[in-house]
Amino acid sequence: MRQEYLTIRLTAVRSEARRQSLPRPTLGRILGLVERNDNLVCRRSACRLLRAVPKLLALLLAVLAVISAAPDGPFRFVLLGDRTGEAQPGVYERIWQEAAAEQPAFVVTIGDTIEGLNDSTAAREWQQALASVHAYAQMPLYLTPGNHDVWSPLSEKLFRQYAGHPLHYSFDYAQAHFTILDNSRSGELSAGELEFLESDLKAHAAQPVKFLLSHRPSWLLNAGLQNPDFALHRLAKQYGVRYVIAGHIHQMLHMELEGISYVSLPSAGGHLRLSGRYEDGWFFGHTLVQVSGHDARFRIEETGGRTTDLSDWGSAGLTHRVASVGK
Ligand SMILES: [Zn+2]
Repeated sequence: MRQEYLTIRLTAVRSEARRQSLPRPTLGRILGLVERNDNLVCRRSACRLLRAVPKLLALLLAVLAVISAAPDGPFRFVLLGDRTGEAQPGVYERIWQEAAAEQPAFVVTIGDTIEGLNDSTAAREWQQALASVHAYAQMPLYLTPGNHDVWSPLSEKLFRQYAGHPLHYSFDYAQAHFTILDNSRSGELSAGELEFLESDLKAHAAQPVKFLLSHRPSWLLNAGLQNPDFALHRLAKQYGVRYVIAGHIHQMLHMELEGISYVSLPSAGGHLRLSGRYEDGWFFGHTLVQVSGHDARFRIEETGGRTTDLSDWGSAGLTHRVASVGK
């Protein structure tokens, strides 16, 4: 009788695990728990065992809930800066080659994928830009709209078509949540964007690691002055966003404000300005982000050169001399 009972229990647990899409190792652990519990109870009497059924099932469901809510991962993904804004020939292709070699789960770009600003050439530019990285088409690609991508109703339509997403959107990957905002046509984030951000963060509050991306660093001045009194920061803080990322200026910069990292990505092809010196954040490269548990580690990799950590960078460039870190 005990064996029959146990078989029924194991079948019930398997079907619940299928319903919740639990991974196989998790299911294995739970089935082990069932058998161990039953062995303990059955030493006494079948009668007691039957009385304990509801409690044991409740315990199992609680265990299932805890295990399925635990963080997944680890995984890694790539962040790419601007491709255009006086694109330097060959740089984007080389960066993709180096980024893809690290086998990221997906790639997120910060915008300015085409030179744009001209309705009559925009569609062709999108086709050329995407064709140049066609070899990596199996890798999911998430685009952020930049000012070179969206400037008119037609360009907005083309962004939707080629990016396969609206101007603002969000997605989950394992324990991480990504919100892509649109400030392609304004230096600031509009009230509508902040509204979208709040409802999105509210709906995904349970995701432990949150990234927020927008093309223009509308936060640059406030984060640089260590002023926490602005709407984006208040929302980020309220909903536990850990990383706020932008591009547009083509310069690697990093600021910390009340536990939130603000990051301006290095260029992925757009021209280097001012001093053009690596130490000042002017270089081509990509950023590999390793997400484990509730943390993310950024590796900023100069094309064919130095590798640094987020903590090596500050609001005015490199905080100290580095040869190479963390390869
Ligand atoms: Zn831009």
